[in-house]
Amino acid sequence: MSHQPAVATKMSGEMDKPLISLHLVDSDSSLAKVPDEAPKVGILGSGDFARSLATRLVGSGFKVVVGSRNPKRTAGLFPSAAQVTFQEEAVSSPEVIFVAVFREHYASLCSLSEQLVGKILVDVSNPTEQEHLQHRESNAEYLASLFPTCTVVKAFNVISAWTLQAGPRDGNRQVPICSDQPEAKRAVSEMALAMGFMPVDMGSLASAREVEAMPLRLLPAWKVPTLLALGLFVCFYAYNFVRDVLQPYMQESQNKFFKLPVSVVNTTLPCVAYVLLSLVYLPGVLAAALQLQRGTKYQRFPDWLDHWLQHRKQIGLLSFFCAALHALYSFCLPLRRAHRYDLVNLAVKQVLANKSHLWVEEEVWRMEIYLSLGVLALGTLSLLAVTSLPSIANSLNWREFSFVQSSLGFVALVLSTLHTLTYGWTRAFEESRYKFYLPPTFTLTLLVPCVVILAKALFLLPCISRRLTRIRRGWERDSAIKFKLPTDHALAEKTSHV
Ligand code: NAP
Repeated sequence: MSHQPAVATKMSGEMDKPLISLHLVDSDSSLAKVPDEAPKVGILGSGDFARSLATRLVGSGFKVVVGSRNPKRTAGLFPSAAQVTFQEEAVSSPEVIFVAVFREHYASLCSLSEQLVGKILVDVSNPTEQEHLQHRESNAEYLASLFPTCTVVKAFNVISAWTLQAGPRDGNRQVPICSDQPEAKRAVSEMALAMGFMPVDMGSLASAREVEAMPLRLLPAWKVPTLLALGLFVCFYAYNFVRDVLQPYMQESQNKFFKLPVSVVNTTLPCVAYVLLSLVYLPGVLAAALQLQRGTKYQRFPDWLDHWLQHRKQIGLLSFFCAALHALYSFCLPLRRAHRYDLVNLAVKQVLANKSHLWVEEEVWRMEIYLSLGVLALGTLSLLAVTSLPSIANSLNWREFSFVQSSLGFVALVLSTLHTLTYGWTRAFEESRYKFYLPPTFTLTLLVPCVVILAKALFLLPCISRRLTRIRRGWERDSAIKFKLPTDHALAEKTSHV
């Protein structure tokens, strides 16, 4: 059974053209009549989703009939090409009917059971988080239990009414589809294609719960990296507060609380960016060390290391975000009143001390090199961030991608280290910098990156590098260690990510 009209078949291959073809749009910019031979699709419900769906279906060459409890009230909200009528009439002729009502109202549709015998019902519903936890059975399975003579297909729930109306974009084109009946699934998949979406087969209706959970997720891959970045920010901010604000207040009676919004934030951000960047490369070093120690690559990494390896992209992007904010804050530093007063006060001091020319050659050089290294590090980080975008990453082959992410990323780490070292210069050795006996913040941030850089340098030694390469090509130190499938099935499905 194919529901794909001629217009629709053409559309799927011409994604660059507008989905709503001009000849279908009447002078009121609502949608005009579609050809009589176009396949008919039913929609139950006249809400936001139903309206957007009807508009997209009409624009894709389908005939649409909408079933409402009150067609008179709602007809004006639909394109003129869509027929809006009572529910009983709307479901009588189409083979495919979209159920665009909420789960709690499914039971009110039971009066239509007779007319719905043998039809395909498309469940587009999304449960709330609470409903998802409350019901073990998915909305689609519940609908199937109410209408045992129908075939239920779960689809389109991940697409918002707005996306339906505005047209699919690269990022949100995928429509997961599942059903127990392959024919019904194929029919709905063809409709999705005709509307410009990309159907993704999710198997039987038992997967509906998983499909319904998809829109409930809130950036799952970002949770741990964001918490990590926030945790680092709070720790470094507190540390800098104690050193730059509390210490002068308590020991020198100076009020430096004005530094809290800009200055302390700007001292904290590079620390977070730098440590995060080193945390992108640390798991790779640990994984290599583990492989060297085990003498094989055929043993799973511990779960924590596996998860860490999987989150490197998000940690790297957060590092770039903090570094970019640091650059912006640094540009703003001279705009602050405090900075202008400091400059004037310094000039007055100069005059009073009868000094006409203030020029410390070493400081001038330090600042020039420090700034240049910072700009280079940020530039390299920007490259890494851009190449992690799916559209750019997909245009690179594996070697190009790993060169940018691994080699250039390491260059960014080295540049950031040099940037930090030129910032510190001799400050780590000056007693006055140890406020409350606390070492300057930059000395703390150097710890992890230096370990990573040293370890990477160590792995470059020919004896170690050769051994690591052999292990990664399948060589095993101990012939007694043989590749074994884990007995635990869940473990067998997991893969290590280096
Ligand atoms: P809505 O604006 O509240 O529309 C729901 C429609 O259900 C009403 O307009 C009503 O139409 C109909 N309905 C049928 N029987 C009903 C009854 N007994 N009581 C109350 N209403 C009844 O909701 P919506 O945003 O269009 O969402 C509809 C479905 O699409 C939901 O399951 C939702 O999870 C899903 N969805 C929505 C979006 C979105 O962006 N809005 C995205 C994905 C999925 P009549 O009064 O004309 O009968």
